[in-house]
Amino acid sequence: MPTLLPRPSILSIEPYVGGESKIPGVNRIVKLSSNEGAFGVPPGAQAAYARLAAELHRYPDGSATALRAAIGARFGLDPARIVCGNGSDELIGALILAYGGEGTELVMSAHGFVMYDIAGRYAGCRVIKVPERDLTADVDAMLAAVGPRTRLVFLANPNNPTGSMLPAGEVARLRAGLPEEVLLVLDSAYAEYVTRPDYDPGTALVEAGTNTVMTRTFSKIFGLGGVRLGWCYAPAHVIDILNRVRGPFNVNAPAMAAGIAALAEPDWVETSVAHNAEWRARLSEGLRAAGIGVHPSEGNFILADFGTAERAKAADAALKQRGLIVRMMGAYALPQALRITIGTAEECTMVLDALTGFMRGANG
Ligand SMILES: *Cc1c(COP(=O)(O)O)cnc(C)c1O
Repeated sequence: MPTLLPRPSILSIEPYVGGESKIPGVNRIVKLSSNEGAFGVPPGAQAAYARLAAELHRYPDGSATALRAAIGARFGLDPARIVCGNGSDELIGALILAYGGEGTELVMSAHGFVMYDIAGRYAGCRVIKVPERDLTADVDAMLAAVGPRTRLVFLANPNNPTGSMLPAGEVARLRAGLPEEVLLVLDSAYAEYVTRPDYDPGTALVEAGTNTVMTRTFSKIFGLGGVRLGWCYAPAHVIDILNRVRGPFNVNAPAMAAGIAALAEPDWVETSVAHNAEWRARLSEGLRAAGIGVHPSEGNFILADFGTAERAKAADAALKQRGLIVRMMGAYALPQALRITIGTAEECTMVLDALTGFMRGANG
């Protein structure tokens, strides 16, 4: 045993395991394990990133002025109330360290996004995972879990990995039931993909009070997971805190250039949303017809339930044989399920064919 030890809570963290990207012996793989957008990198973002190559000796603009202006213009938000991050993961971690820490509690739903748990433990918070109803956050149960030590409540909406979404009224009810001194973080990483009309990504609640933050990302629909770019919209006093604790150059210059260009890519979001809605429905219906449970999803992925961990593992192996990589869900205590990202039409068809064949074999 080394005598040098971290704070005890850190040893309780299970290291994050990202989506796999290789299968030994298979050359052509289809990666549907990390919810990266179906269409790759927007062409304009690729060009903008490349143009920055000759400027890499320069420090980036530490206040991300141009990017915040572009985000504000695109989403109708005040750029002064935006902070950009090295992925939204960075902002999630900064909020938890700033408002949580030893002696405090962080409340999340049972199958909420795993980074809240990791960052919460890192900060020394007690992380409370609240049981869900039908794999959906239960507002009453979350409110009941809040105590005098609670400082942060996290809700991914839609949630990864379940795809569940709470309508705007339910999220407002959550906020209304929380004490003033509790920060509600609404993680809207998949906001653009939502097709239900009763949705609000959190903008209205951020603007209505002083204790709600919305986080967003360029990693999903904007196809920029590799450059690490996220942002949040928050009350002015929270923006002030984040600007004190973040690294002075936390977002790199090519990432900002790519992000600005991605926002300007003509029809990118519209095309992606239409494709996603169509193939999310087709894949869900096809898998249900094959006898696989599919949870309703508002994201760019679906959660396929095989009933048992053994069958999910066998299905994963059948997919891998065809070069298809999806995400096993053991880390989310859902070992009976696989999370499958909505890819191109061809990729979705490959998944459907493989799993239909697998179910015939399993039942035959
Ligand atoms: C993918 C994802 C993120 C994005 O994180 P980045 O650090 O911006 O890449 C955040 N929250 C949820 C729920 C996600 O699924």
